[in-house]
Formats: sequence, C-alpha cells, structure tokens
Amino acid sequence: MASYDPQVMVHVPSLEVAHASVFENPSFDQVLSKFRALASKYGQNNTYGLALVHRHAEVSPGHRLMDFKQTLQPFPLNDTADNLHGAPIRAKSLALTAGGWKPYEYELGSPDLPQQDFFADVQALLEQNGSEGLHVGLRRYSPSDPEELEITESGGVSVKIPWNSVVSPSPGYKTTFWAFPSEDGGEMRNYKCSCRDTGSSTNSNHNHIDCN
Ligand SMILES: [Zn+2]
Repeated sequence: MASYDPQVMVHVPSLEVAHASVFENPSFDQVLSKFRALASKYGQNNTYGLALVHRHAEVSPGHRLMDFKQTLQPFPLNDTADNLHGAPIRAKSLALTAGGWKPYEYELGSPDLPQQDFFADVQALLEQNGSEGLHVGLRRYSPSDPEELEITESGGVSVKIPWNSVVSPSPGYKTTFWAFPSEDGGEMRNYKCSCRDTGSSTNSNHNHIDCN
C-alpha cells in the first residue's frame, strides 16, 4: 500500500468540516468503543487509532504528505515510490475513499503485513455509522508517542509539539486522534490539533481554525 493516489486528497475536508462530522454524530462514542473492541480483537490497538481525516496543506502533484515524527509536510516524491533515499516508507494515515482504504500520509518504516480483516471490520463499522459524513480514518501510532499539539505554519509545514511542553496553546484546538494503548491501563489517548499563522479558515490551502 505504498503507492499513492493523489485523488485521495481531493476528498480530505477542512478541520472544521471533519470535526463537525464527528461531534455532531450522536453515535460517535459507540464508534469509539466498538473500534476499541476491534483493535483489541485483532491486536492492533498499539498500532492503529482512529483519526479525524482533515486537511493540513495543499499537496502539489509529485508530492506526498510525509510524517517525519515532529514534522508533517508535503514532500517531493513520485506516486509509485516505495522508499525515500533507499529507506522504505509505509502508509501512516488512511481514509475511506470510493469504498476502500487509501493512504494520504506516509512515514519512514517497513510496510506491515496487510491487516485485511481488521481493515474490513473497521470499514464496516464506519459505514454503518454514516461514513458518508463521518470524516474518520485509520492512523498508525506508537504508545510511546507523546500526545501532541500539531500546528501548521504558512508554507504547509506542520510541527508537532509535545502537549506537556505547550505553555499556552492557541485557543480552539480540536481533538483529532483516538487510540487505546495497552499501556497506561488501556486509557484512551487523544491528540490535539491546532494551527498558528494561517490566516483565515476560508483559505482552502490551509483549512485549520481561524487564528486571526
Ligand atoms: Zn491537523
């Protein structure tokens, strides 16, 4: 699943639209608890969480969103490349598009064995709960990742700052990730997302909260 279909980004909505789709859905709490059960059943709860599928930056042809742990940015890479300077890459974030999972963010790392049953069951869960309007997908993580505040700067580069080192988060940050690590007593993890220096929420190149 290393190859990339640039059309996937066409369907990735703004943070506002994605956030509303989740928090206006009365069954989202049930989706979370059912996802938790599926992730545990397949032994994927320390590998995948549910993520709000939302837009950070415009991704030009010949580029992909690459997650380099502390930064996320559009990076020059052709659509069929499966490595970066010889290092393997794998899907980091996947969205449901046209009835199937498609990656829209990548990271350095060896591809996994396909988790087709898990992916199919999560797809069915999301489709049963309004996938048309529910902008939620799968995202890889590690239980050792800190909770982070993700901020997109002008130019489309996002920086991820450990939440416990953020002195004064910009107001209006939104939760964008839910995971259920076995560590920490199986407590749910929430990641926050925000932005600075982005102009207006009507700017289609940068659809985060309006920070003016
Ligand atoms: Zn974000």
